[in-house]
Amino acid sequence: MKFFNSETTLSSQTVVMSTMELYSPTDLNDALRFMERDGRNATVIASGTDLLPRMRRKQISPSVLIDISSFTEDLRYIRQSDGTIRLGALTTVSDLLESPLFHGRLSMIREAGMLFGAPQVRNVATIGGNICSASSSEDLIPVFMVLDAKLKIVSARGERSVPLKDFIIGKRETALKPSEMLAEVEFSPPGGHSWTAYEKLGRRNMLIIAIVNEALSLSLEDDLRTVRSARVALNRVSGKIPALAVRTNDFLEGRRVTVETIAQAQKVLASELSLTSDFRGSGTYRTEIAQVYLKRLLERCTRQIGGPS
Ligand SMILES: Cc1cc2nc3c(=O)[nH]c(=O)nc-3n(C[C@H](O)[C@H](O)[C@H](O)COP(=O)(O)OP(=O)(O)OC[C@H]3O[C@@H](n4cnc5c(N)ncnc54)[C@H](O)[C@@H]3O)c2cc1C
Repeated sequence: MKFFNSETTLSSQTVVMSTMELYSPTDLNDALRFMERDGRNATVIASGTDLLPRMRRKQISPSVLIDISSFTEDLRYIRQSDGTIRLGALTTVSDLLESPLFHGRLSMIREAGMLFGAPQVRNVATIGGNICSASSSEDLIPVFMVLDAKLKIVSARGERSVPLKDFIIGKRETALKPSEMLAEVEFSPPGGHSWTAYEKLGRRNMLIIAIVNEALSLSLEDDLRTVRSARVALNRVSGKIPALAVRTNDFLEGRRVTVETIAQAQKVLASELSLTSDFRGSGTYRTEIAQVYLKRLLERCTRQIGGPS
């Protein structure tokens, strides 16, 4: 199938037509074969909620689109086995919200889903599209990052696994090669004394583009006071890309969760952020909110044991 994206210059009476091809493969293998053979300039489209607005704004002009939205058999699932949760790339945000897996310890995923767009967007927006957008305000990237998620990347030549923390290499840039596609997100739910939480600030209550969003996965030792592992991730940690706040995480590990520890951790977090300003908020404001959220997340994750001492 071929359709035209026209640039019409009527004044000079010439018509410039730039073509864009839309390829609708029959299944995943067909798509991978196509990408291996002809896909150098091809762009995957899942539900298009990120891609199509960018095309409309002329931020990108792909010459070939590969529509994977019909591969629900291959890529839309939520599975749990051997202590691992696997999510197909076409799993939608609404699928996450409907799953019984994301209550309790993994309630952060549910929280992020509830704050995501509006119901119409949640019904179609895919987790693969969210991650591959590699943008600085996506909700699910920090959430999966604090769970140390790994990504299954597939191509006609086979598959490889890439930690999510290494997948996003720049603003709108991923570690995907031209012939590759994201197939699955995999993580082990935290065990023992663990909790997760998510916070997001926007300028309105729905269709929120995050000014700051921050996720925490916290595990405590058996004494229920000392941090065994802390994973904080937020967008724009270094520059504009989502990342783990490594220095803050290292600082928290092995320390007791006290009011003093939290105050110090807030300073460490501020020192590793380089948050930029735009019309939604200044870098200074964003840094302050990120610090407030760190405190709130730590308090929420320790609520069941009475909060920080
Ligand atoms: C009104 C509105 C509200 C929104 N609100 C939010 C929000 O609150 N939070 C949020 O995080 N986002 C939000 N978004 C952005 C968008 O909905 C999400 O990023 C969504 O998850 C993208 O999924 P998709 O299936 O539509 O991806 P697409 O738009 O189809 O693709 C996005 C990008 O990922 C690539 N891609 C998609 N799937 C794959 C794959 N399997 N392998 C390789 N590359 C792939 C595409 O090539 C493209 O670059 C919103 C968008 C709109 C229009």
